[in-house]
Amino acid sequence: MASAPNPASFPTTDPIQVVGGGVAGLGAALACARAGYRVQVQEQASAWAEVGAGIQLGPNAVRVLASWGLLEPLRACAAFPSALHSQDAATGRPLGSLPLGQRALARYGQPYATIHRADLQALLLVAVRQQEAVTLHTAQRVSDVAALRQQTPLLLGCDGIWSAVRQAVLNDGPPTFTGHLAYRGLLPMADVPAALRSNAVHAWLGQDMHAVHYPVRSGQFMNVVVVVHGPLPPGADAWDNTAVASDLQDKLERAGASAPALRELVAAVPGWRLWPLYDRDPMTGAHQHLVAGAETQGQRQATVALLGDAAHPMRPYLAQGAAMALEDAWALGQSLGRPGGLVQWAQTRWQRNAWVQARARRNGRIFHATGVLRWGRDTGLALLGQRLMDVPRLYSGPPFP
Ligand SMILES: Cc1cc2nc3c(=O)[nH]c(=O)nc-3n(C[C@H](O)[C@H](O)[C@H](O)COP(=O)(O)OP(=O)(O)OC[C@H]3O[C@@H](n4cnc5c(N)ncnc54)[C@H](O)[C@@H]3O)c2cc1C
Repeated sequence: MASAPNPASFPTTDPIQVVGGGVAGLGAALACARAGYRVQVQEQASAWAEVGAGIQLGPNAVRVLASWGLLEPLRACAAFPSALHSQDAATGRPLGSLPLGQRALARYGQPYATIHRADLQALLLVAVRQQEAVTLHTAQRVSDVAALRQQTPLLLGCDGIWSAVRQAVLNDGPPTFTGHLAYRGLLPMADVPAALRSNAVHAWLGQDMHAVHYPVRSGQFMNVVVVVHGPLPPGADAWDNTAVASDLQDKLERAGASAPALRELVAAVPGWRLWPLYDRDPMTGAHQHLVAGAETQGQRQATVALLGDAAHPMRPYLAQGAAMALEDAWALGQSLGRPGGLVQWAQTRWQRNAWVQARARRNGRIFHATGVLRWGRDTGLALLGQRLMDVPRLYSGPPFP
């Protein structure tokens, strides 16, 4: 995956404006600067402190980071799990396993990594700061998108699931609450019950629930996510909330998730955050990635590209939201230098992102299955675990735009 610096065949010497400094925004700033463009990033937060917890990075996401020369900093802070094990959340019975580690490296040329979101953000930020062509502004909340469109030839909406840029150009309403609640916690590896203290990703599949845990911070911490069904808690912020551990314990009890090792792990987590999960239907066309610029009443309106959650918020059941944001950014950097490249970028990206969004929804139905579907899932995992859990089309990406 060569990254070819190719100064501006997208005709501009004016800076590209990036709204949002999350994974998509920092990735896009880096990709555009590496392609020879000047970039300004506007981030609403007053500092680059990062909320969130763990993130899994499949070989496709690691491939993007490697192409930007970020493998060494990734190695310094990530964990590289040896396997993905799935288990029954009611009994603890093993259901199926997918070796990662050397197998992922041999099959895909890049490892499978797990990382704290703050560490991913930090390594991107260091790389962006090394680019003289990028100016970073914090405490800058963009509210007047139309005015910003007049100041730049290209505006990148990287402002996440509640994107103001998306609303300004697509005006298609807010994302939808999925009816699923994600509880997220972090604990020192030394506090993890001995039976689960391992360098692996574990997925516990139950009725209307699942839990995932994996190492982060070079294996010094374990990230734990438990997803249950339930109504939007009254007064809940759409993003990140403190959570009450006993509520989660009650929900697990009701869902029959009583595997002793899982309950012990949940009890060991010192504090929980609650994230109501929202998404949108899978993308339906390139128009949801790219809105062409126009000239109205003598006023220029920039072309707008949407990246990351602004374009394709998805359920976290394929662990690919941040990965797709990185892929969007990488592909954009490859496209800008070519005539018609942006259109080609949007064409390639919407099809891949729509597929990933749909697959993430499907995974949710399989993870939380009841009745016959659950029986079919467990039988399939026992017989064909490795084949069912590997996703070559995903992990061999990103496709060249
Ligand atoms: C429970 C859970 C588990 C997950 N697990 C994984 C995983 O394992 N692997 C994976 O790849 N992904 C995972 N994800 C998804 C991943 O976290 C997101 O897809 C990813 O963070 C999206 O990045 P983004 O940059 O598009 O948006 P964000 O991270 O939301 O960044 C948007 C940025 O824009 C800023 N902003 C917003 N509005 C404005 C404005 N008007 N002006 C200026 N700035 C603005 C925000 O402050 C923010 O910094 C998970 C998500 C959840 C909820």
